[in-house]
Amino acid sequence: MTNTLSYASTPRLSSRVEQLHGSVIDSSTSLLASQTHDIVRFAMGAPNAELIPEADFARLFAAPSQGRFDYGATEGEPELIREVAAQLHRQGLAADPERILITTGGMQGLDIAFKLLIDAGDTVVVEAPTYTNGIGTAQSYQARILEAPIDQDGMVVEELPRLVAEHGQTPKAIYTVPNFQNPSGTTMSLERRRELLRLAEEWDAVIIDDDPYGTLRFEGEPVPSFAELSPGNPRIIQVRTFSKVLAPGLRIGWLELDPALRQLAINAKQSMDTCTGVPMQHIVADYLAEGALDAHIARLRGVYRERKYALINALADTFGEEVTTTNPEGGFFLWLTLGGRYAQVDAEELFPIALRHGVAYIPGPAFTASGTFHNALRLCFATSSPDRIREGVSRLHRALEEAIA
Ligand code: PMP
Repeated sequence: MTNTLSYASTPRLSSRVEQLHGSVIDSSTSLLASQTHDIVRFAMGAPNAELIPEADFARLFAAPSQGRFDYGATEGEPELIREVAAQLHRQGLAADPERILITTGGMQGLDIAFKLLIDAGDTVVVEAPTYTNGIGTAQSYQARILEAPIDQDGMVVEELPRLVAEHGQTPKAIYTVPNFQNPSGTTMSLERRRELLRLAEEWDAVIIDDDPYGTLRFEGEPVPSFAELSPGNPRIIQVRTFSKVLAPGLRIGWLELDPALRQLAINAKQSMDTCTGVPMQHIVADYLAEGALDAHIARLRGVYRERKYALINALADTFGEEVTTTNPEGGFFLWLTLGGRYAQVDAEELFPIALRHGVAYIPGPAFTASGTFHNALRLCFATSSPDRIREGVSRLHRALEEAIA
């Protein structure tokens, strides 16, 4: 007798599985974790660990709290929902607890949004480039991806009617990262937001507004969100997270959506992780109740502004006109396009060379369904100190010189 059974082949799987591509970004976390040499990390969209208020979290976790290890409500702990609404009010935003649903990070919010909206074969408009896992999640529901170009003012909304006509199917959802976009760092202009709202109405489509970075504006003027431009509009689903302003390891985010949709979203969440984890929600709720988040965000803005300039200036000093970059007014990312002597370098082929030289980034093709942008790199300036950023740029320079040698 043996406990091991051997199988002739894999079992019959769902057709959905073919659309599960995995995340290049998430796999890079494991890849980098397995490296033993010193690497400057421009790859993950991770805040610097030193900026995470760990001592506050430890104190709040140690405080006695009843029921913390019981089953929680799927829609989230009432205390956290209340505190999220209060925090939004402090930021001058209308927020109704009846519209808020706590999620396991922003990622689960995206998953729920696509789950509510997408049948196999439905079209989702995305920015090209856009957040890898946004595309991946839409594809996991067998969406057809329609890529819209971006420029320095975000998605080129004016081109959408033509693209949709050529594509032959109106979209069911429009997925956008309107502020300090991942990966480009660009922000959608007010006019384009208005026009996108109009198109969503015309096409009976939902705007999935994924905004992890919006509060991290360190220069320029804020642009009103879709929900501010069209309050109560059921065709807007807002996906939010504490991962970038507090800590990604908490895995706490929220959805804001129409109350009728919210009930369906709760049903959807119940089929993947019912009874949302309680302890981390209480840490975040108590942290918010102490009123500490605004000061923390103000500090982050200063730090990230300094880091952006460290990166932009180091790139300009090192590469001059050989590369071009976007100029984000907030958030974590900058998009670098190789030109001049480096124009023919493929960012995916450069990656192992760069890793050997001790610097990591995410290659452009990871951010499209079509695998374009071979000459582009996403660089995250949030993770490392200005000195480390400058060191990372020298290493990138050495890697690029080796690649063209
Ligand atoms: N959307 C965007 C645009 C992001 O950049 C991220 C994080 N990289 C997420 C969603 C997911 O956030 P979370 O880590 O909270 O799941």
